Amino acid sequence: MHNFAFSGLISCGHCGCAMVGEIKKNKYIYYHCTGNKGKCKEPYTREEELGRQFSENLSCLKFDDDVFEWIKEALTESFSDEKREYSGSIERLTKEHHTLQNRIDRMYIDKLDEKVDQNFYDKNRFEWREQQDRCLSDIERLQNVENIYMDEGIQLLRLAKDAHSMFQNQSPADQSKMLNLFYSNCSWKRGVLSAKFRQPFDLLAETAIIDDHNKMAGIIDSDPFEKWLPEQDSNLRQID
Ligand SMILES: [Zn+2]
Repeated sequence: MHNFAFSGLISCGHCGCAMVGEIKKNKYIYYHCTGNKGKCKEPYTREEELGRQFSENLSCLKFDDDVFEWIKEALTESFSDEKREYSGSIERLTKEHHTLQNRIDRMYIDKLDEKVDQNFYDKNRFEWREQQDRCLSDIERLQNVENIYMDEGIQLLRLAKDAHSMFQNQSPADQSKMLNLFYSNCSWKRGVLSAKFRQPFDLLAETAIIDDHNKMAGIIDSDPFEKWLPEQDSNLRQID
């Protein structure tokens, strides 16, 4: 079966049905509205034209190396608060683990001295060991979390930055994956694509456009990426 890059990705701007790919004369790929809600007036469109418009749209995400470094730095900085918070939590958990160990050791001596019986010892030891395990796994999670935030943030940035050039050389299957990652809603009406970026790419596109506009107008914005700074709601931070 042929792999259509844009199938399932675009809805028809007239009737809301899906746009689907179809091969004509064994080589040309056309997209058209399924017309499930009745005959639709949107004409068939060549796949190349859809590809061209997506590619053009992806170029909204483009920004140069200076800007990339700038955002990277801003991200790193914005995570330093979290980092401090994690260090505090890790310290607390380490202490708790230590306290539990002391308790277990003392209880063992009590058992040897026959101050506590075997049942009491077994029951408590089991419980405290469990608590210790929880401490250790929380510590591990916290140690990883900061790196994950940073890595994901930087990866997304890099991906966005290269999206435009990568897209053109990809297989239809990869193009499809990529567009699914970047866009939440795409529709096609009268031969024109309208595509909505997913978060955080929407923010990035907006920022890149403003920066471009400012550059052209000769405006130097002292803080063009304000949006990427430690806002309480940044999507880059939502990790479970
Ligand atoms: Zn339609």
